Amino acid sequence: MSTADIGLIGLAVMGSNLALNIAEKGYTIAVHNRSSGRIDEFVAEAREQGLDGKTIAKYDLADFVQSVKRPRSIIIMVKAGKPVDDMIEQLLPLLEPGDAIIECGNSLFTDTQRRFDYLTPKGIGYLGVGVSGGEEGARHGPSIMVGGSKEQWHNAEAVLTAISAKFNGEPCCAYLGEGGAGHFVKTIHNGIEYGDMQMIAEVYGVMRDGLGMNPKACAEVFKEWNKGPLNSYLIEITGHVLEAVDEETGRPLVELILDKAGQKGTGVWSAIAAQQMGVPATAIEGAVAARSISARKDERVAAEAAYGKRADKKADVTLADLEKALLAGKIVSYAQGFAVIAKASEENGWGLPLSIIAKIWRAGCIIRSRFLDQMSAAYAKGEATNLLMVPDFIALMKDSHPSLRKVVAAAATAEFPMICLSAALSYFDSYRQAQGTANLIQGQRDFFGAHGFEIVGRGTDLHGKWPSTLGN
Ligand code: NDP
Repeated sequence: MSTADIGLIGLAVMGSNLALNIAEKGYTIAVHNRSSGRIDEFVAEAREQGLDGKTIAKYDLADFVQSVKRPRSIIIMVKAGKPVDDMIEQLLPLLEPGDAIIECGNSLFTDTQRRFDYLTPKGIGYLGVGVSGGEEGARHGPSIMVGGSKEQWHNAEAVLTAISAKFNGEPCCAYLGEGGAGHFVKTIHNGIEYGDMQMIAEVYGVMRDGLGMNPKACAEVFKEWNKGPLNSYLIEITGHVLEAVDEETGRPLVELILDKAGQKGTGVWSAIAAQQMGVPATAIEGAVAARSISARKDERVAAEAAYGKRADKKADVTLADLEKALLAGKIVSYAQGFAVIAKASEENGWGLPLSIIAKIWRAGCIIRSRFLDQMSAAYAKGEATNLLMVPDFIALMKDSHPSLRKVVAAAATAEFPMICLSAALSYFDSYRQAQGTANLIQGQRDFFGAHGFEIVGRGTDLHGKWPSTLGN
């Protein structure tokens, strides 16, 4: 008998927590997983949490599909990539027109678009949904970015909205656009997350090596900053990470953690998407590059031996400068991320609502912050696409960019790396420079490739009379 309101396949960390969240909100959920061991674990967990009355575990895929009420909404939360395609193929013969697959993993948005295009003519809805907030978010309220078949979205809207995080009572869940729109927005969310984390790490580097602060002292600063304009989940957890103590040695844990950052690909996807569309996203690119450099520990050790250790110079900055520099860097990074989203929306005809995207990131997700509330309000007024041209943010930037400049300059002098913050500053300086230097580049391009240039008032596709360099 079909009694479940919704189904879910994939009971690893994210899937099992999402399923428990759905059950807790009063919906009956059928669950299935490839290997039965995880189903057993889920059944025990649901019982422990008093949610067994709302969960139906099915060990057979066909039984599982049959147990879900029509039109079916079936969430897939399996490993991204081929497992998703395999799962779709297994489900396809068991589904009926009008049913929908709701894929909630970290899928590449072009894969989602391909799957949407494949399933739509078969009458099967396909929703590619970005879910942010990790394990905790999945269980208690993630930020949910929905893309895909609008008709089937309405069938699942109540459940997804109910399980999402809430900001001042407003759900952090929204339908954003067709095809791969939801996963695209999640990808850029992750790119922005990379930027936020890298800029925080760069500021921590100045505190540690340039101001001689120990982790506990740094933690206190981040806790203080969390009460101001930088208030956000990442600033909050940075305080906790910095004050954690290793039980075995009694030393600050952060000092024992190897300085090699991992990455799973969404930052790279953001940078590639930005480059492919010709949208500058230097803060995200810098953050991705910084993680890649961090991973090359052996090379860095060898290079330090070759060039000598950084001179033990103090950084000539105050904590107030660092706070404002971080704010300015963050404004630039979000300006870039939203510019990428706006361009993708235009290219794909998605009609992505920038204000709503900022809104659904205010709670549940990793980049949640007070700042996003301000951003959402600004975009709702439709003032500009690039955040750097939104009046409230022009004022904020005018107040904070001198500090960013001071911090980047001090870092260069004291020999601290600042890939992300310096990239943000250079972007800002390039963006607000009416007369740039690309006139020279156009001259060079015409010299060696006859690519032509424009002279205002005289015409386009003009050429210079360049001297021959043959024989030089
Ligand atoms: P994993 O990405 O580790 O995937 C494990 C799940 O995928 C298991 O249920 C596994 O089944 C299933 N699976 C793997 N291959 C296949 C296959 N060929 N056919 C059927 N099932 C398969 O799980 P997570 O919970 O960590 O993540 C799920 C998705 O959510 C991923 O796309 C991830 O990127 C994304 N995500 C994860 C976050 C996190 O914090 N972990 C945060 C946000 C998104 P079995 O038990 O049989 O091996």
